[in-house]
Amino acid sequence: MASRSAVVVGGGIGGLAAAIGLRRVGWEATVLERAPELTAIGAGISLWPNAQRALAELRVEPRISAQRGGGLVDWRGRRLASWDADLFVRSHGLPLGAIHRASLIETLRSALPDECLKTGVEVTSVEQNGVVHHGSGSIEADLIVAADGISSPIRQALFPAARVEYSGGAAFRGIAKLPLKPALSTTWAAGIEIGVLPLLDDEVYWWVSEARPAGIRHDDHRAYLSGKYGRWHDPIPQLIDATPEILLHDTQHLATPLPSYTRGRIALLGDAAHAMPPFLGQGGCQALEDAVVLASHTQASTVDEALRRYDAERRPRTQKVAKASLQAGASGPLLRNPAAVALRAGFTRLLPAAVTTRVGASISRWQPPKLTPAQPRKP
Ligand SMILES: Cc1cc2nc3c(=O)[nH]c(=O)nc-3n(C[C@H](O)[C@H](O)[C@H](O)COP(=O)(O)OP(=O)(O)OC[C@H]3O[C@@H](n4cnc5c(N)ncnc54)[C@H](O)[C@@H]3O)c2cc1C
Repeated sequence: MASRSAVVVGGGIGGLAAAIGLRRVGWEATVLERAPELTAIGAGISLWPNAQRALAELRVEPRISAQRGGGLVDWRGRRLASWDADLFVRSHGLPLGAIHRASLIETLRSALPDECLKTGVEVTSVEQNGVVHHGSGSIEADLIVAADGISSPIRQALFPAARVEYSGGAAFRGIAKLPLKPALSTTWAAGIEIGVLPLLDDEVYWWVSEARPAGIRHDDHRAYLSGKYGRWHDPIPQLIDATPEILLHDTQHLATPLPSYTRGRIALLGDAAHAMPPFLGQGGCQALEDAVVLASHTQASTVDEALRRYDAERRPRTQKVAKASLQAGASGPLLRNPAAVALRAGFTRLLPAAVTTRVGASISRWQPPKLTPAQPRKP
């Protein structure tokens, strides 16, 4: 079969993975990224077993830290529930992974030949027949992958009624570099969640999620957090102190589930298709799944048929995960009523580790389809 060509709009986790998958099954893929260079914010990301399997199918092997146990605690550090690493592997199939975003992006980028990635190129519009317009010209392709993120201009053009909304919480995030090796922990209080996720090389990723109105800003993130959480359990104060840069984002999600992830020769992928709130840590994992599934359907089908199958397979799953993320937020960091929070703590204490560790297994047990490497072309 003659080689087919794809243009991928966006060089984030989803776009890079899509290009890797398509190339693996014989496509020529070019990634157009508007930023002058590929960068990732100074934060970590959880890689659930489903994402690790997707990466393995793409033959991408980032160095990830496998979590070794921990628990859910209150602000004083008193145990509400245990999280058992061996039980996790038994119910999810692999350990819970975490990685620095920059390291994930770099590993994905290095799996693509340099000529596949064009940075500093902003796509201005796309046509359903496969034409991509950018700042200095246009390209024709058999397939366009719109991996242009939560604010996706391509989604806005194709589905103008789709709305992105504030998810109800702001997230502070950072990576501390310090020799202490804390265990994974989630701290719950009314309208607050603090997560600690050890990475490799003495780095610890942490986040503070606060239920509050959108748009609140602070002159000094560290001073704000230290003032509020400086007396909470260890290692929260130390992590805040040892973090060079603390980020703050109002979390958002796509509030209108799309009626289709495809139009003509265009496939929406990752946050462009299904931006979800971060409360399950699955947004990037789902983008990786999308990439493998899209590539797999292009192996034996026409573009039309491949896109029909991609939409049929990915839309129900990702919209279900997005809904579960919203629910996880409502019963987790966004729960503010003190009586409901006390009830939640009491109930959580009664749960055996076998139950709490299994949370998320129905999502993370996902298995990727096989990608058959393309035969080298005859000269
Ligand atoms: C607080 C927070 C915590 C999170 N934690 C996790 C987690 O632990 N685990 C997890 O799996 N997920 C997590 N996520 C979600 C995850 O970050 C996203 O789902 C993921 O990054 C989406 O990847 P993407 O490639 O679809 O989009 P992006 O990473 O947004 O990439 C889109 C790219 O497209 C480019 N672009 C946009 N428009 C154009 C254009 N016109 N022309 C060219 N390029 C363009 C942008 O510059 C960008 O590089 C979290 C999200 C948040 C906000």
